[in-house]
Amino acid sequence: MKPKNILIFVGKYLINNNYMQDTVQNNDEISSLGEFGLIRHLTRNIKIKNTSTLAGVGDDAAILDYGEKVILVTTDLLTEGIHFNLIYTPLKHLGYKAAVVSFADIFAMNGIPRQLLLSLAVSKKYKISMLEALYEGLLLACDKYGVDLAGGDTSSSLTGMTLSVTALGESERNKTVLRKGAKKNDLICVTGDLGAAYLGLQVLERERRLYHDHPDLQPDLSNYSYLLKRQLKPEARADIIRLFREADFVPTSMIDVSDGLASDLLHICNASGAGCKIYADKIPIHPATIEAAGEFNIEPLIAALNGGEDYELLFTISPGNYDKIKTQPEIAVIGHITDKDEKPLLITPNNTSIELKAQGWNATEN
Ligand code: ADP
Ligand code: MG
Repeated sequence: MKPKNILIFVGKYLINNNYMQDTVQNNDEISSLGEFGLIRHLTRNIKIKNTSTLAGVGDDAAILDYGEKVILVTTDLLTEGIHFNLIYTPLKHLGYKAAVVSFADIFAMNGIPRQLLLSLAVSKKYKISMLEALYEGLLLACDKYGVDLAGGDTSSSLTGMTLSVTALGESERNKTVLRKGAKKNDLICVTGDLGAAYLGLQVLERERRLYHDHPDLQPDLSNYSYLLKRQLKPEARADIIRLFREADFVPTSMIDVSDGLASDLLHICNASGAGCKIYADKIPIHPATIEAAGEFNIEPLIAALNGGEDYELLFTISPGNYDKIKTQPEIAVIGHITDKDEKPLLITPNNTSIELKAQGWNATEN
């Protein structure tokens, strides 16, 4: 019997068979929806059943109500060849980054990560020592951020490695910060600098191609240490969350910059029902990023707007709280929130307005 016939045969045992049927698209290709479209599509009919689920799909982490504090949960999947390339990613770094990236999602809710669950599928090409290296990195990150590795799952895989990382964190109920909540005139702030991780990736990709053509050449990457660190060993902004506690205020909205400033700011605007205006010359870019961007013929601003994986925090604050952050060297105010019917805009140094798009940009008349 052909597998297809088996499917037809067992189909009658499925409950709620037509759950998805009404929605099968004319175009059944995943690429027709894109990543965010796919998530929206798959989750559009979910109705929360438990009062303990305060917030489900749609933010950096889910919010669960179990007592005085709320619990934050977030999960990330990393697949070999898609999210990491072992040619230039040391496994120790991969473990470190996998953990830090999920902590960043908890921080983005103004929470503190406490536990990590790690599920792992590996093929035969992996040796014990390689997995030890992965765990060294994971545990290093857990130690640094005060998180307990509290469980997971292990399985074999036919090809390569897949990691599923789930972080749990806590937050006080009234201090949890969502992507929604930004109000007109709120200041838009970002931490650290942007675009460096993307250029780090460009450097590594260039080396990979070189290595492919000339396996005997020894790379000298000493000029790129800042960019490589940002790509291979990123940090999450625990310090900023501490600062919010110490300064005793809560941002009105927040997200971690994982997909690029433009895309993540648009998430805040969409969730908050608002527009925004940011100023190109206020966007923090490291000198090493500017220098490498020149080498790769990339506009540094484009790297900052569209390059992902910086894991900085992007947040909005009411103007009244400006005094609390204005002397912080790690926080840049890059613009403000505008009315819903105003487009999200980027203002260039010569005062041209460009509509902010998730990828690339389109000039509008001004
Ligand atoms: P991030 O970049 O912060 O990890 P994502 O864009 O991956 O966030 O996810 C956005 C939201 O969609 C989150 O709330 C996440 O839990 C949810 N989500 C992502 N993928 C799925 C899925 N396959 N099923 C259900 N929810 C999902
Ligand atoms: Mg996120």
